[in-house]
Amino acid sequence: MNYFSTNNSSIKYTFESAVMMGLAPDGGLFMPELTPQLQHSFFSELKKLSFQEIGFEISKLFIENEITNNVLLNIINKAINFSAPLIHVNKSVSILELFHGPTLAFKDFGARFLANIISYFTKKNGTETNILVATSGDTGSAVASGFYGIEGVNVYLLYPSKKVSKIQEMQLTTLDKNVTALEVNGTFDDCQALVKKAFVDEEIISKKKLSSANSINIARLIPQTFYYFEAFKQINKSTNQVYISVPSGNLGNLTAGLIAKKMGLKITKFISALNSNNVFQNYLSKGVFEPRASVKTISNAMDVGNPSNFVRIQSLFNNNLNSINKNVSAYSFNDDETKKAIKKLYEDTGYIIDPHGAVGYLAQKKFWENKVLVKANTECIILETAHPSKFIDVVEKAISKKIEMPEKLKLCLEKEKNTVKISKRFADFKEYLITNK
Ligand SMILES: *Cc1c(COP(=O)(O)O)cnc(C)c1O
Repeated sequence: MNYFSTNNSSIKYTFESAVMMGLAPDGGLFMPELTPQLQHSFFSELKKLSFQEIGFEISKLFIENEITNNVLLNIINKAINFSAPLIHVNKSVSILELFHGPTLAFKDFGARFLANIISYFTKKNGTETNILVATSGDTGSAVASGFYGIEGVNVYLLYPSKKVSKIQEMQLTTLDKNVTALEVNGTFDDCQALVKKAFVDEEIISKKKLSSANSINIARLIPQTFYYFEAFKQINKSTNQVYISVPSGNLGNLTAGLIAKKMGLKITKFISALNSNNVFQNYLSKGVFEPRASVKTISNAMDVGNPSNFVRIQSLFNNNLNSINKNVSAYSFNDDETKKAIKKLYEDTGYIIDPHGAVGYLAQKKFWENKVLVKANTECIILETAHPSKFIDVVEKAISKKIEMPEKLKLCLEKEKNTVKISKRFADFKEYLITNK
């Protein structure tokens, strides 16, 4: 399979170069030249396949002969070593829990798959790779945990000191081995600026092989298609319409869903659930894409004012707004509505949802308003992207009840924080990178 850049479709790249570069040299995002099509036999066998087998069948089509089947199967088994159960909350609504990975958020799928793919290419080429990631929370911990202990890869996480939650900080700073947390005396934007500068600094790149693991890497998108199929597998009634509500920020999760549909999965329509950062909703209704500075909300992983995967969605639909609107509806909600939704869902069903999933729950409810329902054979799936205990303060307050923290999180809170403190000056960061072994 060849890949092209969303800025120029005439130059082709291999899967390996697309993954190792992350971003195309012209600043575009990589997309597969063709959307692979799954055979009819795959769908008729779907119920019998394990989650890992589904992942293997799909990724094979995106990677083809660049990684042998045995190695690929091994990568999938290591990366996707947790489940994605579909929880039925009422007759026509269910919740796909994507938080059973090590850092309790769906970013584990992308980060773990990417880490194992990079590790494979790094070993094959006998090189060493240094991954630089600026993080404001969730991405960093998923990446760190995904790369933890992987040979030949060093990970440097830059995070803004005192500007991430206690739980997030512990998840970022309690790993050791090949993962170093750099506690930057500055903001998230300062961290991002340091990383960007490093990638174009002649002296650094002559001495260190750098790579990025940010959300635009195509190898983070591919594994996110797996769970859409896994969700279908678990629908236990005959349906002729399936709607999926996707809590959206950078639109990576939604893009993966749209790709799954294009591969042949019978999803009737996507509902893009947004918080007050609603640039994508405005685009769908007005046809103009107007990035803005992000605003802070309680569903903070969706606080994105300029969603990077937007160009991929345009590319999937040849820039045709009508086709995008046929496939996606978008709704946005504020924090107050989100808190009330957490409470309402809990009271109605006993299900405890996190603030991101709650926006997804609201969006599917809004979607059904004013519509005549044919509920008997309709299923609406809400993607639950993080475990509620990652946002324990907001959730406990909303439902007026203490919630149980999973063992994984408790263990990490007991460990010792370990960081290297640096200023926001590029010269300091550069010296650290160059002199560190
Ligand atoms: C990253 C994230 C999102 C947003 O996903 P995108 O792919 O960026 O749209 C939603 N929920 C949680 C918990 C996240 O970490």
